[in-house]
Amino acid sequence: MTVDSLIRSCCLFLFSFLVSEHILSAPVLVKFNEVEYDITVKIDPVNRTIEGKSLITVRNPRELQLMLGAAYEVTQAEFNDGPLGIGREQVNQAHIWNIPFHFGNQIQFLIRWKGTLAALDTSLDHQQTLGRPVAVSGETGSFLPDGSGWYPRVVGHLARYKINIELPPGQKGLVAGRLVEENESEQGYHASFDFSHPAEGIDLIAGPYVIETQTYQSVNHKPVQLRTYFHPQISNLSKDYLDAVKRYLNLYESWIGAYPYTEFSVVSSPTPTGFGMPTLTYLGIDVLQLPFIRDTSLGHEVLHNWWGNGVYPDYSSGNWSEGLTTFMADYTYKEQESSEAAREMRLGWVRDFAALQPGQDAPLTAFTSRMHGGASKVVGYNKAAMFFLMLRDHLGEAVFQRSIQGLWRVQRFRITSWQELQKIFEMISGQNLQLFFSQWLERTDAPAIMISEVKNIATDSGYELSITLKQSGPVYQLRVPVAIESPQGTTTHILDLQQEQQLFKLKLADKPSAVSLDPDLHLFRQLAPGEAPPILREAMINAATRTVLLSSDSGIRKIAGTLASKLQDRKPQIIARDESLSTAPVLIIGLDSEVDAWLAAEQLPAKPDEINSKGTAQVWTLARAEGASLTVISAQDTAALEALIRPLPHYGRQSYLAFDGRQVIEKGVWPMQVQKVVIK
Ligand SMILES: [Zn+2]
Repeated sequence: MTVDSLIRSCCLFLFSFLVSEHILSAPVLVKFNEVEYDITVKIDPVNRTIEGKSLITVRNPRELQLMLGAAYEVTQAEFNDGPLGIGREQVNQAHIWNIPFHFGNQIQFLIRWKGTLAALDTSLDHQQTLGRPVAVSGETGSFLPDGSGWYPRVVGHLARYKINIELPPGQKGLVAGRLVEENESEQGYHASFDFSHPAEGIDLIAGPYVIETQTYQSVNHKPVQLRTYFHPQISNLSKDYLDAVKRYLNLYESWIGAYPYTEFSVVSSPTPTGFGMPTLTYLGIDVLQLPFIRDTSLGHEVLHNWWGNGVYPDYSSGNWSEGLTTFMADYTYKEQESSEAAREMRLGWVRDFAALQPGQDAPLTAFTSRMHGGASKVVGYNKAAMFFLMLRDHLGEAVFQRSIQGLWRVQRFRITSWQELQKIFEMISGQNLQLFFSQWLERTDAPAIMISEVKNIATDSGYELSITLKQSGPVYQLRVPVAIESPQGTTTHILDLQQEQQLFKLKLADKPSAVSLDPDLHLFRQLAPGEAPPILREAMINAATRTVLLSSDSGIRKIAGTLASKLQDRKPQIIARDESLSTAPVLIIGLDSEVDAWLAAEQLPAKPDEINSKGTAQVWTLARAEGASLTVISAQDTAALEALIRPLPHYGRQSYLAFDGRQVIEKGVWPMQVQKVVIK
């Protein structure tokens, strides 16, 4: 797994037992099956044993089901004053207790259980850990995800809880919630936590942690306890992480509203995972050591305390929380960096969407899973983030901001659907947003928009510019930004495109010289051919890519062949150097002199100035009029070529790179070729 894809999959929710429940968000007077757990659990990571006791209280009970994972033995199970049975007939079955309708205000269950946890396997990657909701334990770390069924729970209901954790000396443990008390002695470590809002589930984490603590003053003057639970080998990173968490809390409190909890902890994991839970984030030791995590993923995880772990998405009707979090974290950091960086991120989103294979596109309302990656990410994260960007453009910054704050005030700790989100935005903006929401949420595809004609006439008072826009059907209702250049500067006009073809007339004071369509990519749309600058990834992912090895030396050809297969993650289709180039992407690999000669013979531009004579090897893309892009790899010698094998596959999003050995010393993306009509 690459760093890139690990970071992008850094926030996944683990609460896989939850069945969505509308009762909490409906205006009813009595809430049924209000659940509270009071759990004491003792874990020995050396012997991997667990022993637990839970007192479960259900207020206003209706029919309900209790469940405990198959890996455990039940030693006591009582129901008010009577026995409950162990909930299964055979070992290896989950314990399931079906409780019929019960008269009265409250019922209580007492269950004691014990068992052996699976051994921690640090060789598992993030995806493998996700696909395996198993409680694991070992001296370097224990992770008991909610989905593993490690404690008896009422199926399909949010619950408040109290939990006492007991661990042997040297180990520390935590769950989401407020740390009520903790003590450490020769006998071991004990901590108790309280989660007083309805929570989706309980994930328990333990390890040989060094704890560092700082206090943050929230906007409502309440102290928030910030902690790092780090393995000793990375405990020197604590201060930087705690400082970064403070910055993010400050940013989001001023933007949305007060942080809803009394703590936030950053916890290290011996496996390369990345999870976000209320009040904490659990990230791999290796991930935490990457310097950019503090600037990106950490903020995303902090923000999930508002969206995802504060306002809960209704998974059955579409998870909006990844889109809103991506928009207000990852994308916002790009906006803070520069407008170019933000545009580059938008370009990445629409480009990834264009690269989806047939059948991979899905409406946003179908993004329901909590564990996902790849194609669903392109829609569930990127298209959804762009949806919020377009909504902000549509409503204006101030109204959008007020709506976000309203969403937080009204829906905090409630399961919230896209529809409820729409209602809040409509209430606060006073606009009917039905069409806007339905076209972006319920449809697959994206509109293809183009300028079909531009005419300019001089008038008495200036100029009248006629622009005809076209879009693919069925039509979208779009506010299309067009940039009009004149010798006096560039102005942006918003055109309300509602038909397949529509004429717009603009009165201008200055003589226009050019019109370009959505040059800053504010619309989620299909890019025109050649509009996106070519990047390395085209040659990497397109199965039709042809590879040309320019060298005749067998040693160099072998290294070049290995490089090509690592880049494409398959056996490359190698063609002869004099074969005519196909319309598919082409990858050229050779030493400097061979590459220079080949480019000259093909009448292609020489090595670009951005990277020419920098470092020991250069890689760049070229757009071709007659087909897909060309990617060229040029190295000064065999060693310089070999040095690219490991790093280069990580740079698919770049258009050009210069390497000094394995080190990147220059990289970038060519400018976009926006749809532009020059006016004569
Ligand atoms: Zn996330």
